[in-house]
Amino acid sequence: MSGGTPERVGDDALRERVTTLVRDVVGFPQPDVTFKDITPVLADAAAFADTVAWLAAPFAGNVDTVAAIEARGFILGAPVAYALGTGLVPVRKVGKLPAATMAEAYLLEYGEATLEMHIDAVGPGDRVLIVDDVIATGGTLLATASVLRRAGAVVVGVAALLELAAMRGRDRLEGLDLHVLLSV
Ligand code: AMP
Repeated sequence: MSGGTPERVGDDALRERVTTLVRDVVGFPQPDVTFKDITPVLADAAAFADTVAWLAAPFAGNVDTVAAIEARGFILGAPVAYALGTGLVPVRKVGKLPAATMAEAYLLEYGEATLEMHIDAVGPGDRVLIVDDVIATGGTLLATASVLRRAGAVVVGVAALLELAAMRGRDRLEGLDLHVLLSV
């Protein structure tokens, strides 16, 4: 297809399409990991547009802003925010944000990490949708929800393209409204 409005597809057709597009990269970034590469979804105009529309749909009219997690969360979060007519809050790795930040440390499968958000990015009572590409252990999302809540925001839900069911992120994220296109 060259330009124009991509054709809209139903949920099942979209799942099927995105399933065929997501690429498994065995041994990246370390030998024991199979990386879920979403770049073929981004490269497909119709799949990208339909995925963004699907991620945003349940939250239309119900969120004040979108919090997107570095780095692939930015790629999906920005168009979701645009679709919802909201602003975007970047949640980043340490040292990347220029103004005053608040930080949240969390455990990874191996080791520890910290994420940061500008202290003035959200205000008390702001209704926030969190967007990321892949849910694995759920640790990053949990830390993001935590820093948003510390700032007084209300986490309305989480929208993600894919969850790795075996890693049981869903168990850790109990109580959050998870809107996930694919579970593998
Ligand atoms: P987690 O905190 O374990 O849920 O995962 C944190 C981040 O790592 C997410 O933002 C994902 O983008 C990324 N991630 C974890 N595992 C994978 C994977 N197998 N393929 C692609 N991205 C992953």
